[in-house]
Amino acid sequence: MPMVPMKQILEEAAKKGYGVGAYNVNNMEQIQAIMRAANETKSPVIIQASRGALQYSNLIYLKKLMEAAVIENPEVPIALHLDHGNSFETCKTAIGLGFTSVMMDGSLMEDGKSIASYEYNVDVTRRVVEYAHERGVTVEAELGCLGGIEDGHGAGIAVDDDTHLTDPDQAVDFVQKTGCDCLAVAIGTSHGAYKTLRYDKDGNALPPRLALDRIEQVEKKMEAAGYPSYPLVMHGSSSVPQELVEIVNKYGGKMKAAMGVPMQDIQWGIERGVRKINVDTDGRLAITGAIRKVFIEHPEKFDPRDYLKPAREALYELIKGKMKDFGTAGHAGDYAPMTLEEMAELYKRQPATV
Ligand SMILES: [Zn+2]
Repeated sequence: MPMVPMKQILEEAAKKGYGVGAYNVNNMEQIQAIMRAANETKSPVIIQASRGALQYSNLIYLKKLMEAAVIENPEVPIALHLDHGNSFETCKTAIGLGFTSVMMDGSLMEDGKSIASYEYNVDVTRRVVEYAHERGVTVEAELGCLGGIEDGHGAGIAVDDDTHLTDPDQAVDFVQKTGCDCLAVAIGTSHGAYKTLRYDKDGNALPPRLALDRIEQVEKKMEAAGYPSYPLVMHGSSSVPQELVEIVNKYGGKMKAAMGVPMQDIQWGIERGVRKINVDTDGRLAITGAIRKVFIEHPEKFDPRDYLKPAREALYELIKGKMKDFGTAGHAGDYAPMTLEEMAELYKRQPATV
């Protein structure tokens, strides 16, 4: 099965009411762990690479590793997605590499830090949509600004600052003007492990305060405007399981009290229109904990396989759980995958912007 346009994966998920995790990768072990979980649970999957990941893997390595994943897992619909593209050029590079989906994050300027104007966001997103859709490639956009910084990307908005949440009316206008296929909404989640500034009296982190009702409001407005079941994207949606933080700290790590988005909040969102859930931090925690454990328990070992194998195993277990919790499991065989060419034809017949 060739890689499929992400739009198809999201639309199929919308039909049956489940969510699909988008898991960040940088290397072979991460790709293998995620693909093993997808294959065993029969889950469609979105694998995503940030600009940092593309740099780290020197572009071509990541592309070739993904080609291997496709060959090894013919039963699994896989979309390869660019996470937080910062410019038209970056998106174009990813599309040239064979990505079947790109995110144009025009909520920030090209530096990935300064907050952009609405007009800038509409303009740059619309240009990417035109270029991508001609090639059958899906476009995710972002409206409102997420908190935190991820891979050097982010405005560093404090996690308790709610002035940058997505405006539901603006969301409709934005989709009408740009034709983007799915929208990342700012609902109070933030990137990284430290998503909350709320602690109990013992210093334990409390879950972040989320504006989940925005999901419902955006979906309702989108439906009224003629976009039923419009796919929304939740960024910064690692749950930061406490047992993973504990493993990291037990074996010499020094993480502060951390807390992510509770799974029941994500599931609440999935019931109301969230189709793509971005998970990066949890995978990092699983890998780091497993490697630290080997280093502390077996300081005599020095073969990288001795710690990369358990790291890969820990990530596999984590992702398998997510695929079940998001409801993705069991849906890999539900549909015949579309090619980018077929999707490009479909876009031609349905001019998306007004
Ligand atoms: Zn993000």
